Amino acid sequence: MPHIEQLAPHVADLIAAGEVVERPASVVKELVENAIDAGATAVVVEIRRGGMGLIRVTDNGCGIAPAELPTAFLRHATSKMRSAADLGKIGTLGFRGEALAAISAVSRVDILTRQKAARSGAALHLEGGVPGAVEEEGAPEGTTITVRDLFYNTPARLKFMKKDSAETAAVAGLMQHLALSHPDISFKFIKDGADALHTPGDGKLESAIYAAMGRDFAKSLLPVQGRGGDVAVSGFVTQPLLGRGSRSMQVFFVNGRFIKSQLLTAALEEGYRNQIMKGKFPGCVLSVTLPVEAVDVNVHPAKTQVKFAREKEVFDAVYHTVMDCLDAKGAPVSAPKQVQQAVNPRNDFFQTMDAKTYREEAKPAAKPQQAARAVWSTEWKSAARVADSVQPKSGYAAAQSAKPAMGALGKPPASVTQKPAMGAIGSAPASVISRPAEVPVAPKAEPVTKPAPEPAKPERPFVPAIPAMRQETLDLPEQQTIEPVKEAPWRIAGEVLHTYIICESEDGCVWLVDKHAAHERINFDRLKAAQEPPMRQTLLRPVAVELGREDGALLLENAPLLEQFGFACEDFGDGAVLVREVPADMDAEDTAATLEELAEKLRSGRSLDEKRENLLHTMACKAAIKGGWTSDRKELEVLVEKVQSGEVRFCPHGRPVAVRLTKYELEKMFKRA
Ligand code: ADP
Ligand code: MG
Repeated sequence: MPHIEQLAPHVADLIAAGEVVERPASVVKELVENAIDAGATAVVVEIRRGGMGLIRVTDNGCGIAPAELPTAFLRHATSKMRSAADLGKIGTLGFRGEALAAISAVSRVDILTRQKAARSGAALHLEGGVPGAVEEEGAPEGTTITVRDLFYNTPARLKFMKKDSAETAAVAGLMQHLALSHPDISFKFIKDGADALHTPGDGKLESAIYAAMGRDFAKSLLPVQGRGGDVAVSGFVTQPLLGRGSRSMQVFFVNGRFIKSQLLTAALEEGYRNQIMKGKFPGCVLSVTLPVEAVDVNVHPAKTQVKFAREKEVFDAVYHTVMDCLDAKGAPVSAPKQVQQAVNPRNDFFQTMDAKTYREEAKPAAKPQQAARAVWSTEWKSAARVADSVQPKSGYAAAQSAKPAMGALGKPPASVTQKPAMGAIGSAPASVISRPAEVPVAPKAEPVTKPAPEPAKPERPFVPAIPAMRQETLDLPEQQTIEPVKEAPWRIAGEVLHTYIICESEDGCVWLVDKHAAHERINFDRLKAAQEPPMRQTLLRPVAVELGREDGALLLENAPLLEQFGFACEDFGDGAVLVREVPADMDAEDTAATLEELAEKLRSGRSLDEKRENLLHTMACKAAIKGGWTSDRKELEVLVEKVQSGEVRFCPHGRPVAVRLTKYELEKMFKRA
């Protein structure tokens, strides 16, 4: 065996430096974090050749005393922590006292700094970690650190550097995150002599988003704000219709620190369930704030990952904040619902009928008239909304089962398999989301979005506070959302292509409503909210459906679940299933095709909840008016009213149910404007 010897200090330093300083972006990160910790309100970052040539960070923070300048570059030298107990409550971005030591070990560093009260500043030059003498020098208030020739003394590391363009991109991404997490600080980023980013530092997140992520993205956003227990959530999320092709625009901060987190991504996307198109992803800039001791930032040297002490609480806070914001966006802002209903005889018409009665009445009509099978009762309105929030599947547990990768975050808390806190009707447990005390909720909006007669209201523990002003300042594109209206019902001009209802609103806009999509959504909400199994119809002659052994067995295995949806099936041998009963609002002739589809859905669902949700989709679709059928006038009116009220906004697959053309847009098409 060779001798055991302690490494020479400079070798040990180089090894340690490699852990902190991986690439130019890590240098920029450490230096900017130091500037932020120093209380800077303006930070300028300049890089050349992807940072390999030069990195310069200038701040207007507190500066460093000349006498302490060499100390700052020693390993484990920090002003931010004194004892092991401090480790449990890290409030600054830095704390290891390693960055300056590591950076200076692998580069040539110049620092120029002046404290506020000091008459003059101090300068120091270091090469490979070896400091020169501290010199007195005139300097502006704050600190400027220049890093040149990164990795000049570690050729092995130098070889691993990517192209300058890749390093520049990494720094640019970092600058974006830093700017977004500190809207109160003005960031300027100069790459190879050109301004690449400049935020105003006016304290408004919108301004930072606008500057760092672009105008179009900024305009696609809705503000969100909420709180669950100790966890506060705020920021912006994209409107469901403006989903993006990837997750690249999802930005999360925890206690001001940019982090990557599958848990937060899952919670965000869960909030959009059934509202966003398949294959599209929400974008966001979301800030999660929680007590420092409830989050461990010390799990990764680059500190881009964190460990939450109570994962479920964090998940629920994000999920409910997002979901309630999206919900509120479509809630009526007009007169309370019951008033509308009283003056609107159409509702009564449907209220007094159930599916069977209506079917009987519609019998003499030709097949297309079967379209008028739906039962719409106003109770569903509220029931569906309540159900949305009490569905046990729409929570942390569901995301846990649906996204196996989440397991990597650590063992889920014991309560994971329970209903999410929001589901608990009645007295709210401590972790239940509650309205943040400091955020005022417009008193006017409340009785309208949550009318008194709705049973859900008293129990609903969370009202997101959405500052109306912020929404306006974002200047959201009008055409994309269906704004609830308080004026007269839309005039139905007619139906085209047996699919779209054309309407005119009081404000002179033309609306095209996809009747199948709208009806599918209504069915979906109704089925989801239903407490009782749906009404059934006994088939005159049981239908034998040949499904093959595998699918046949799968359906029979799930017979109790199918029972809940109104199907009575039994084994007919050889992979065939005999169906005796089907849901009343389904076309009996569709039995075989529906069962085939259900088998397919059962196959794709991993958990029971997922299977149930998949079946819901199929049943909602099967019970809906088909595009291509001619509809009854009353039917059109009810559909349109649901769309107008904002109750129905997306089909369960996230497609919009209505599009709007403004008068101006039409005039432009006709070259009148
Ligand atoms: P840490 O940030 O973990 O404390 P660093 O090696 O990054 O360790 O910095 C060491 C110390 O140098 C800091 O604790 C701080 O006191 C001081 N320092 C570093 N950068 C700045 C700056 N830009 N302005 C003021 N003080 C700074
Ligand atoms: Mg630091």
